[in-house]
Amino acid sequence: MARRSEHRTMLMTPGPTAVPDQVREAMATEQPNPDVDPAFADRYEAVTDKLSRVYGTDDDVIVMGGEGILGLEAAIASTIEPGDDVLVVANGLYGEGFANFVESYGGNPKVVAAPRGQPLDVEGVTEALGTSDFKAATMVHCDTPTGNHNDIEPILDRLADREILSIVDAVSSLGGTPVPTGKIDIALGASQKAISAPTGLTTAAVSDRAWDVIEERDPSSLYTSFLPWKDVSEGFPYTHLAANVAALDGALDLLLDEGLTAVYDRHERAAQRCRQRGGEMGLDLYPAEELSSPTVTAFHVPGRATEIQRTVADRHDITLATGLGDMADDILRVGHMGYNANVGKVERTMDAIEDVLD
Ligand SMILES: *Cc1c(COP(=O)(O)O)cnc(C)c1O
Repeated sequence: MARRSEHRTMLMTPGPTAVPDQVREAMATEQPNPDVDPAFADRYEAVTDKLSRVYGTDDDVIVMGGEGILGLEAAIASTIEPGDDVLVVANGLYGEGFANFVESYGGNPKVVAAPRGQPLDVEGVTEALGTSDFKAATMVHCDTPTGNHNDIEPILDRLADREILSIVDAVSSLGGTPVPTGKIDIALGASQKAISAPTGLTTAAVSDRAWDVIEERDPSSLYTSFLPWKDVSEGFPYTHLAANVAALDGALDLLLDEGLTAVYDRHERAAQRCRQRGGEMGLDLYPAEELSSPTVTAFHVPGRATEIQRTVADRHDITLATGLGDMADDILRVGHMGYNANVGKVERTMDAIEDVLD
C-alpha cells in the first residue's frame, strides 16, 4: 500500500497540480484492456458524461490520450486546411502560439495581439473581422504563463454573428472556473490542471458545427485528428491510456461530489487570498487587476523569479513556477487550481515567499 502521510514536496505550480490520494489510488488499480474489455468502453462513456457536466454542455465530449498540447494541435489539424484564414486572438504565450499551429497546417494566421497581461483587443477583433472571411478563430481562456483570465464572451458573440468556428484553449480554467462552452465550438481541456488528475489526457467539447467542419476536412493525420473520436462505439483509434482514464474518473467524482459551485467558490477564495497576501508583502500583480485568474496568480518580480523559486524550494520544500520564454525570470507564479485551490495551502505558500523576500 502507498504510504499516505509521508512528507511530500508541496507542488503549487499552475499544472501539473498535486494529485489527491484517491486519484492516485484509482490510477494504481488493475486496468482492463481498453481495446477488448467492454468495461473500459463503459468507463470511457461515464467519464465523458461527467466531463460534459464540468463543461456545462450537451455537445460531444472526447478524451484523447496525450497531454494538453495535443488538443491544441489536434483542434487546428482537424479543422484548418491549406489556404484557410484564421483569426488568432492573443494576449499571452499560448494565445500567440496558435499562430504556429495554424501555419504548420498551411493556414494563414491573422494575429490580433494585445500586450501580455492586458485585456484582449475586442476592437481589433471587430476591425479584423471586416478584412476577411475567417474560417476559425482561436483564443485562450486563461493564458497561464502570464496569469491572464480573459473575458472571451464579447469575442465569441462577434464570431457567432459571422458563423466563424471558435477554438478556445480552456486548459487551465476548466474545472476551476466556469467556461462559456455554450458559445464555443471546440473547448479544450487537459487532465493535469484544475481537474487535478495526472498529466496525460486531452479533453475537448466539440459542437455539431465543428464536427461538420471536421468531417469535411481531409484527415491530416490519425494521431492529431478528432474525427476517429466522434464515434467510438466500434472501438478506439489506438490503445487508450486506461490508467489515466481511471484517474480522471476518480478526479471528476471528487469534483462533482463537492459540487461545481463550491469548487468555483473555493478557487475564488484561494485566489483572493493569494493576491491579498502578495499585495501585503509588496508584490505587484503581472496582469491587469480585472484579468487576475481564479486558478493562478502571476506576480511581477523582474529579474528575481528564478532565485525566489529556488530559495522557496530549498528552504520550504514548495515548488512554484516562474514565467515562460523571455519572461522566465520576471514572473513568479503560484498555482491555486484543483486540489491546490485551498486557502490553507495558499497561506503556507505565501508564508514561505514572505520568509524568502525578508
Ligand atoms: C498547461 C497548458 C497547456 C498544456 O501545456 P503543458 O505542456 O501541459 O504545459 C495548454 N494551454 C494552457 C493555457 C495551459 O496552461
